[in-house]
Amino acid sequence: MKILVFNAGSSSLKFGVFDMSIQDSRVFKGEFEGFKNGSCTLHFRIGGEQGEELNRNESLDTVEDAIVRVPEILQEFGFADFDAVGHRVAHGGEQFHDATLIDAEVLKHIEDCTTLAPLHNSTNLKAITISRELWPDVPQIAVFDTAFHHTIPDRATTYAVPKEWRDKGLRRYGFHGTSHKYVGLRVARELARPVTDLQIISCHLGNGASICAINRGFSIDTSMGMTPLEGLVMGTRSGDVDPGMFTYLARELGLSVEEIEYQLYANSGLKALAGSHDLREVEQKAADGDADAQLAINVYAYRVRKYIGAYAAAMGGVDVIAFTGGIGENSASMRRRVCDKFEFLGLHLDDDKNLAVQLKGFEAPQVQSFDSRIKVIVTQTCEQLMIAQEVKYLQVQREQAEPKKWYIPVAVSARHVHLSQEAVEALFGKDHQLKKMRTLSQTEGWAAEETVEVIGPKGSFKTVRVMGPTRKQTQIEVSKTDTFTLGVEAPVRPSGKLEHTPFIKLRGTSGELETNGLIIAARHIHMSPEDAGKIGLKDGDYVDVKLGDGGRSVSFANTLIRVKKGYTTEMHIDTDEANAAGIAFQTKGELVTNETRGEADIMTKKNMELSWRNEP
Ligand code: ADP
Repeated sequence: MKILVFNAGSSSLKFGVFDMSIQDSRVFKGEFEGFKNGSCTLHFRIGGEQGEELNRNESLDTVEDAIVRVPEILQEFGFADFDAVGHRVAHGGEQFHDATLIDAEVLKHIEDCTTLAPLHNSTNLKAITISRELWPDVPQIAVFDTAFHHTIPDRATTYAVPKEWRDKGLRRYGFHGTSHKYVGLRVARELARPVTDLQIISCHLGNGASICAINRGFSIDTSMGMTPLEGLVMGTRSGDVDPGMFTYLARELGLSVEEIEYQLYANSGLKALAGSHDLREVEQKAADGDADAQLAINVYAYRVRKYIGAYAAAMGGVDVIAFTGGIGENSASMRRRVCDKFEFLGLHLDDDKNLAVQLKGFEAPQVQSFDSRIKVIVTQTCEQLMIAQEVKYLQVQREQAEPKKWYIPVAVSARHVHLSQEAVEALFGKDHQLKKMRTLSQTEGWAAEETVEVIGPKGSFKTVRVMGPTRKQTQIEVSKTDTFTLGVEAPVRPSGKLEHTPFIKLRGTSGELETNGLIIAARHIHMSPEDAGKIGLKDGDYVDVKLGDGGRSVSFANTLIRVKKGYTTEMHIDTDEANAAGIAFQTKGELVTNETRGEADIMTKKNMELSWRNEP
């Protein structure tokens, strides 16, 4: 299954192609960013996690322009067909708990949620709209940042505000759900423990930042609330503030609600405290003695610590603290500041291990000391991979609920014979060679000009077609009804299985021959390796096939699949079978059962920890 994933932000577009049939599943990774004066940078990588990271400039103005450019970029690197497109959507409101197939109704719900996350949802919507136009026949699936948090209990989602407000959707939803879910699963895998055994505090510290309490696989609280503004100090966002400041600011500074909101989103956080939203710069300034930068770092770390303490209490314990996001992954000093005060919980950081972290790919090193009760894990988040896995899960579920129907062309074989060269000579004269009359759908076989008479003790058929080319053994294929006419019993056999088959007389233009090899051909399906791969069958499998429709439809059980390079996919039945089904020329049969296809190995909520087949 090939899945294209879009993660459209307000100032960047990340996208990736995942081939879910291979381990190193991200076969293309791309990101457009730095839109300025009609140009931007495209970072991209092909060939899995070990592929080379490349950059180039693109003449594009906006994220929307970048979305439209994606198909050309993918085409350039040989990616054209997708089984599904997955979209990261920030806010799904109360409506969406899982990945969801996007139709007009879903689109309307996402639009409705835009008021709750205006910056994020509007960009996600643009990506969806453009992508639906570009790939109208490909299922488009939304994966919501809020979905993982739908398990948070009411006591943690409810704001103590008037009921009329709450009735309008005022409650805590939480974000970064895809990242927290991924981190939870990654941590469980690293520790070789089921996620359902673990109490994990996942700290996603990037430009946006949030913490999540994952209690035995389920989010039970998270620091972002109704909007992505609540909680931690972020690059440019304030995180928690006293709501009383709104009236104060309006009254004393004459600010409108919109202005206050803008300042809290765009000009607060590290940027407001230290003059830069980038922690690298803030850390440098602090090291150079800048008191504002030092305070900013302390405020930042203190807020993270406060939430960790709160979530340890909310879960009644904590086994793992996990760090991810640009800051969580890269700032050893921030990790140390955050962990410093948790000795009373039994957390002891190993400073050397913490300093040595240089994440490669999907590693998840542990940086606690040997005597620490709490594990501390650092890992790169991979929301795109998680989105691809969610999309795959939904697609497999949809296929199981509504199995894809496969239709196989059916050819009716009338009685015919295959002859050995000795038999040809006995029937048509020394050195006689069969003459090709016309080719058959299976290109390796053809109908010969020659016919023979097949003679049984009770009756005979005068002009039975000979099929070329000659074979090692002579084989006479008749129907069950034919055996009554001939007066001989014949077994049902796959072609070529001629041990202990009855003898019958053949008469040609130059002689007669008594030979064994009389069979009723077992019904079978010739299948090309490509079709077998698509359907999930292999040589030697058996399937059931439904033929005909209406009152006379018949289901043929145990139809043998024969896969060989060069075969054209086609079912072969004899005249008795065709008559029983009342089928006409050029019929197709429906493959109704397929016992050989294994259960899809997919993630369910109950066994999340077993779901790492596709993780690079
Ligand atoms: P986003 O939320 O936009 O995906 P990222 O997860 O990329 O953000 O995180 C960006 C943040 O990571 C920036 O604020 C940057 O300061 C911080 N960061 C990246 N590398 C380092 C580093 N080596 N040391 C400290 N902070 C870093």
